[in-house]
Amino acid sequence: MKLLRHGPVGAEKPGAIDADGLVRDLSLLVPDFTPDWMAPAKLQALAAIDLARMPLVPQGTRFGAPVAGTRQFVAIGLNYRKHAEESGLEIPKEPVVFTKALTSIAGPNDDVELPEGSQAGDWEIELGFVMGSLARKVAVSDALKHVAGYCLANDVSERDWQIKRNGQWGKGKSFDGFGPIGPWLVTSDEVPDPQSIPLQLSVNGELRQESSTADMIFSVAEIVSYLSQFMTLLPGDLVITGTPQGVGLGMKPPKFLKRGDVMTLSAGVLGTQRQRVI
Ligand code: ZN
Repeated sequence: MKLLRHGPVGAEKPGAIDADGLVRDLSLLVPDFTPDWMAPAKLQALAAIDLARMPLVPQGTRFGAPVAGTRQFVAIGLNYRKHAEESGLEIPKEPVVFTKALTSIAGPNDDVELPEGSQAGDWEIELGFVMGSLARKVAVSDALKHVAGYCLANDVSERDWQIKRNGQWGKGKSFDGFGPIGPWLVTSDEVPDPQSIPLQLSVNGELRQESSTADMIFSVAEIVSYLSQFMTLLPGDLVITGTPQGVGLGMKPPKFLKRGDVMTLSAGVLGTQRQRVI
């Protein structure tokens, strides 16, 4: 299933994409896609719904992030060799882990507001996933069972805050709206191999990033297992898995976001995003 949330900011309702690609409202049956709805049994119940009988959502309705009430937003850094190289950093021997503020989570097509005085806003297309069940010290071979589904993410970054303000990367990654997620969550049963998803990001129509999750250094299964060795991952938790080469920081000379730019992202079955920079 493709699960989504539609409606104005803060008042989103649950929905899903039907067999004809139309958006159906599920709010008569489900209060919201909170973490408990990511459990395997709940996802099975959702899959049994006859979407054709659910009300249509008008075209043009805003999408929010597909999951509500996320409690942890974890990100992996430098998970593509060429991106580590363009960043002038070593290829990691173990996953680089940082967190983004929950308040950075935004809808897939919401405007991205650069902070006051920002000179170094940047883009990062990434595969995201949402946890379906609690994971603590899980083996790589068991890890994917804990994943509810996959989604497209833009790990919007302010490089000056990330790199020049000292301390941890989260500073440049956590502004409101710096985490567009969606348009939908594709449940794991429809993504047999998360390591074969194409990723493309353009700025003002110019292709900047083109890769595939096949190029990730650490796979989704390895990331889930690794994180779960030192933290408990909870249902509804959101993890983004690193970006491939082609960010503004890696261009010679670097080229950063300006107000009025438009970022467009696409990732096969995970859908597309479009953000205007304001
Ligand atoms: Zn990133």
